[in-house]
Amino acid sequence: MNPLGTRHLALMLITLTILAVVAGSVTRDAPYTPPRDGGFFHRTDQNESAPGITAGREERKTPNERPLILVHDVTPYYFDDIRQIIAVLDEYNCSNRTVLFVIPVFDTTHYGDEWSLRNHPDFVNYLHELQRRGYRVELHGYGHTYHEFNCSYETANEKLDNATALMSSLGFSNLTLFLPPAWALNNESLRAVLEHNLTVVMPNWLILPNGIKKRIWNREYTWYIGEDQVAGRLSVALHDYRKASEDGIPFYLSVHPGVVNYGGGLDFLRAFLRIICGQKS
Ligand SMILES: [Zn+2]
Repeated sequence: MNPLGTRHLALMLITLTILAVVAGSVTRDAPYTPPRDGGFFHRTDQNESAPGITAGREERKTPNERPLILVHDVTPYYFDDIRQIIAVLDEYNCSNRTVLFVIPVFDTTHYGDEWSLRNHPDFVNYLHELQRRGYRVELHGYGHTYHEFNCSYETANEKLDNATALMSSLGFSNLTLFLPPAWALNNESLRAVLEHNLTVVMPNWLILPNGIKKRIWNREYTWYIGEDQVAGRLSVALHDYRKASEDGIPFYLSVHPGVVNYGGGLDFLRAFLRIICGQKS
């Protein structure tokens, strides 16, 4: 082949490579597949199509479903930490994929009602603002005392009545999800939660109000990690995410304010969202 022909061939190869890369990134980003989450991430006031409803059978193995982010311990006690987390989630347009699990009266054992939402209207306004921007507000216990929902049916009922009444008095009604503090729950308290028409979120399961369990993969990768652990945690999380996607299991990423803010936590979150969600706002 003469030199001109070789150059021509090289040019063609380069062009083809570029086309393949572009096509690859288009197929990765373009078709927004409605997430499968058993319909649990379903808001009536959402302007997009209801996720989890329209996903057909053939889409079940789509590996690029975006995960849900679960922020635990949402209380004015962690106001500054929560702002930092929200800033990162906003960078990657994750508001519609994030659930804020709110503690109505944080740690009554140590602080009485000091951190009750009622005493922090600025924080309540902040939650309303986030809700308007697509973040979802749900319930994370009542006082978040040690294993508070490892209790009797009666106690659980009373706590749930207090929690939902307080939340609804502040404009947060229609709660549908309940994440038990420290995952602590027993058969009696579980019955009380389900009777309140709440879906329970656990590390491996959603338990719907009718008692049916749905498999999920809900994990936290940022428990006080150092800056040197970001890459390692990221590769574990991405491996889990891909595995869950292949198995058709919804993937939830749990984070704790005050914990993810430590060391390399927020760097992990940024890197994870950059890979998973792709585009920055
Ligand atoms: Zn908690």
